Amino acid sequence: MSRPITKGQFADLWLNEFAPKHLCCLCGNRGIIDTRGKVFSPAGIECGALVYCICPNGRSLKKQIFLSKEQRDE
Ligand SMILES: [Zn+2]
Repeated sequence: MSRPITKGQFADLWLNEFAPKHLCCLCGNRGIIDTRGKVFSPAGIECGALVYCICPNGRSLKKQIFLSKEQRDE
């Protein structure tokens, strides 16, 4: 069972943990994280990915892409 987290709590978590200089240390405020070919498990398995960041830029980018796909499908 998971406990829900509010958008405010999520934003506070990101600000406190991943934005020490008010810049996202995960993506550099680009909104996209690309770790393909750069991250490997201790067993050597490649586990990188191209994903939207958890920061406001990443969330906004993901939402915009989702909305533009919806418009194309109409
Ligand atoms: Zn970010």
